Amino acid sequence: MKKLASVFLALIILFGSAGCTSTSRSASSEKASSTATAATATASGADSTASEMKVHFIDVGQADSILIQSDGHNMLVDGGNDEDGATVVSYLESQGVESLDYIIATHPHEDHVGGLDDVINTFDVEIIIAPQKESTTQSFESFLDAVSHKGLSLTAPIVGTTYNIGDASFTILSPNGDYGDELNDWSVGIKLVNGSNSFVMCGDAEENSEKDILDNGIDISADVLKIGHHGSSTSTSQSFLDAVNPTYAVISCGAGNDYGHPTAETLNKLAAKDIKLFRTDEQGTIIATSDGTTITWNVDPVADTAANPGTTTSSESGSTASTAAASTTSSVTASSEVAAPSTPATSEDSTPASATTSVESSTSETTSTTYVLNTNTKKFHRSGCRYVKQIKASNYATSDNRDEIIAEGYEPCKVCDP
Ligand SMILES: [Zn+2]
Ligand SMILES: [Zn+2]
Repeated sequence: MKKLASVFLALIILFGSAGCTSTSRSASSEKASSTATAATATASGADSTASEMKVHFIDVGQADSILIQSDGHNMLVDGGNDEDGATVVSYLESQGVESLDYIIATHPHEDHVGGLDDVINTFDVEIIIAPQKESTTQSFESFLDAVSHKGLSLTAPIVGTTYNIGDASFTILSPNGDYGDELNDWSVGIKLVNGSNSFVMCGDAEENSEKDILDNGIDISADVLKIGHHGSSTSTSQSFLDAVNPTYAVISCGAGNDYGHPTAETLNKLAAKDIKLFRTDEQGTIIATSDGTTITWNVDPVADTAANPGTTTSSESGSTASTAAASTTSSVTASSEVAAPSTPATSEDSTPASATTSVESSTSETTSTTYVLNTNTKKFHRSGCRYVKQIKASNYATSDNRDEIIAEGYEPCKVCDP
């Protein structure tokens, strides 16, 4: 911990909890501060007749930026990368935003706070919630400069605290501890509620933070889960996903990003639970509209949840691979007869995978190729494809008849282009 930075922060930032409208007492009540003070403008009974709430997952590439609107009140969760500031500002303006009741800076990484300085410099902002974790990056310091320039202070996230946003409300879920230099785990997580509809979004919180959220006992079941950390395999642990148990999931990531986000592992978990998926890399800005009872979307979910792991390039055209003639049902080799693949690779998140497209030589051997099938995702790969390592043994099969497996509904991987 850098003492100077701490002192600097302590001088310019007064953490407070002004604006808090109610404090829900949960299992973690001792963590919830009793110093919450009555709100200013947005306080109006929590027992509300829900009105329309819109949640915009703004397409900011490999980053997060989420606008929430209810009854003329606005809130922004993260602001994309440094260069996304103008995009986020103009998007907010296009949605009629003139002021923000809340900004949540989930954690100090550039892809979350980068564009927030432009947002803070442009709009009146009432409350800015950020974790009590400093960073010395230029992006974070620009954010702090904008905060202090506006005469604002940061509000510390206190788990269990509930704030009103128009007719909706949100409750702080995380962070639940000191995560040292694991900035992702410091992410401010919230559960956003409008009538009987709910959304959980926890920035880049990874497995450790997800476990602590589960342990703190707040009900995190929700209709929609903003998938953690852009679909990295280090987030969306199975127990967390099971507890949220969403109908819908949204992944905010950039097309062809260097990290391989979202990972096949995460996509397969979603597919296994039949969760309807939306992706900003494939669909641009995603807008969910809640009337308090049902949620509608500006686009249809992606057709095949487990379809496209990251690091495809726009020039790839895996989906053009033929509508094969009617199928003669022929089975492929069952998994039990095949040597299971070795342990899945889990290191792709810490070091950007080389963002190449084809991992194999692209000479098309026609007859004698053996393809590796994922019976869960219905994708098939060349044996050397890096996604083969992520196929669970129970979903692993092979075939050397390309026409047959296409007729059975299998699609070629866009990375290895088998
Ligand atoms: Zn991120
Ligand atoms: Zn991060």
